[in-house]
Amino acid sequence: MPKGTRGETCAEAIRQVIKPGEVVGFTELFGRIRERGTWNNSTIWQHLMSLVVNLPPARHHWPHSKPFLFLHADGRYELYKETGYESYREKTLEALEAQPAGLCEECLQISSRVSGMDNLRRICEVLQAGNLLEPVQGKCSNCRRDRALMRLKRAMTANPQSNAPVNLTRDELIEIHLRLGRILDQLDSAKIRGEGFSSRVIRLRETDLLPGNIACLMLTLNGLRNMTVHEQFIVGPHEVAVVRNAMAAIDAWESSSPLSIKAH
Ligand SMILES: [Zn+2]
Repeated sequence: MPKGTRGETCAEAIRQVIKPGEVVGFTELFGRIRERGTWNNSTIWQHLMSLVVNLPPARHHWPHSKPFLFLHADGRYELYKETGYESYREKTLEALEAQPAGLCEECLQISSRVSGMDNLRRICEVLQAGNLLEPVQGKCSNCRRDRALMRLKRAMTANPQSNAPVNLTRDELIEIHLRLGRILDQLDSAKIRGEGFSSRVIRLRETDLLPGNIACLMLTLNGLRNMTVHEQFIVGPHEVAVVRNAMAAIDAWESSSPLSIKAH
């Protein structure tokens, strides 16, 4: 209910008090909202949970709210649209995957197409905190200059469970991902340079080139593959079943597709 000094709702007030690109701590943000209206504390607290895009329980608890806040690992808030976080994260990981020896900041920005050096630095910090990236000194794979580089940490090396029997290996998931990439290439001749896999799937879904169910399955496969490659995740029997069934559905769609795709 609108209780703002300018007739705005609590959610509208929150959106207005954060400047695009600004990262604000909880106490500061809370104070700014208090100045904008007469909401009680628990209303404001609740909004500062329900409006967070990257807080999975909130997405379940408030399925109808339209979230627009991105919560950083250190508890500070930012407007989500301005962060572009998911796509930046994916673009950065993909660019580094293509150059396993590492890239300097400048070349990483060019090949990842993350707009703004500040955004790139912030994403790299988050990826480093998540143990996915490491800074090293060496020759940049692109410009060949001797500089401070960012490179992916090698996945799966130190994991004691890596010898555990699984019936789906990391290499198989990588192969599946490459195959999905070939399917997308055939649907989409106008590939946008620097576009990440999931952004591409979403774009093709929105332009009706990919059916919704197939797009969902591809995003799931991509997520599992990324967790396996970058986060030392070991697929268990349930995920294996998901992967097998998703591939069966994609195969069935492929063979019945009017586009008569042949991606083998
Ligand atoms: Zn370079």
